[in-house]
Amino acid sequence: MKAVVFQGVGQTLTVEERAEDELATNQIKVQVKACGICGSDLHFSETKSAKPGTVFGHEFAGVVSAVGSEVSRWQVGDRVVPLPHSSCGKCTMCLAGENLRCENLQNMGFSPAYTGAYSQFVVVGENEAIHLPDNVDFNRAAAIEPLAVGYEAIAKARIQMDDAALIIGAGPIGLTLATWLKHFGVTHIAISERNEKRLALASQMGANICINANKTDNPVEEFTRQTGRAPSIIFEAVGIPGIIQSCINMAEVGTRIVAVGACQTADTFYPVSCSVKKIELIFPFSYSLADYETIITLINQGRIDPEPLISHIVSLDEVPDIFEALRNPKDHIKVLIDPWK
Ligand SMILES: [Zn+2]
Ligand SMILES: [Zn+2]
Repeated sequence: MKAVVFQGVGQTLTVEERAEDELATNQIKVQVKACGICGSDLHFSETKSAKPGTVFGHEFAGVVSAVGSEVSRWQVGDRVVPLPHSSCGKCTMCLAGENLRCENLQNMGFSPAYTGAYSQFVVVGENEAIHLPDNVDFNRAAAIEPLAVGYEAIAKARIQMDDAALIIGAGPIGLTLATWLKHFGVTHIAISERNEKRLALASQMGANICINANKTDNPVEEFTRQTGRAPSIIFEAVGIPGIIQSCINMAEVGTRIVAVGACQTADTFYPVSCSVKKIELIFPFSYSLADYETIITLINQGRIDPEPLISHIVSLDEVPDIFEALRNPKDHIKVLIDPWK
């Protein structure tokens, strides 16, 4: 099959022919129909943990093309949206039905051991995959993972309708946060962003205050000027060193700061500045099968729609160039790969 392969820090990805991963008895093989290029892939590709030979890709959907000998819930031809994990099915956690806490859980697309979906075929655990209704197309389904990241962050942040929210960064995750805040009835939803194309999309995705970060270095001040109150919650959706401290510096006393950006290198901040300002720092991570099921239902009912996030659809051959371009995004929002284009 065709796949896009990481070669090492500072090197461009390459397109290669390689063998498909072997199918375990409790796994299904998925023909990938759409896969998102994620900011986490870009960040990860700049770290020492990233190993040559890795095939990225964890935001995807497709069609079942083969099933393991013990698989009971799936048939060839089923439409599927998998979580990017595979559990062993045998450990204490798996036997207790807690398969995402499996002691041997494999995470797709972050090591050479488990091929991600920048490829034509992947294998996933049968219990880590969800049936995709006919009404939800593969492109929207590939956006379920970033929506789930936002959904989990909203849950961990304990959002109430009377919260006032400021999102730093209108990348795909910042934009999904705006979608969820609107969905849950929050009145003031602000996004601060430098990229004008992303800022323009923010209002379509749910933000009602769009702050051009080229014009102010203190979006909390601008938020307060426009609404008469400071944000009660700040979502950091940028993930670069220094951003957490800058949120702490801007925040009013008692603010919750949610680090959704998941910076993958060392970062520093002054814990005492959180203590003094009674700031609660929250680090959300991951999502559940139930989150995916909820999001599929909401998309299927037309109550949320990630389609405006999709700015480009590229072939596997086009991935190496666009992956580099995304390090300094211009008109890109969510770039999807169609491995059969
Ligand atoms: Zn992702
Ligand atoms: Zn297990």
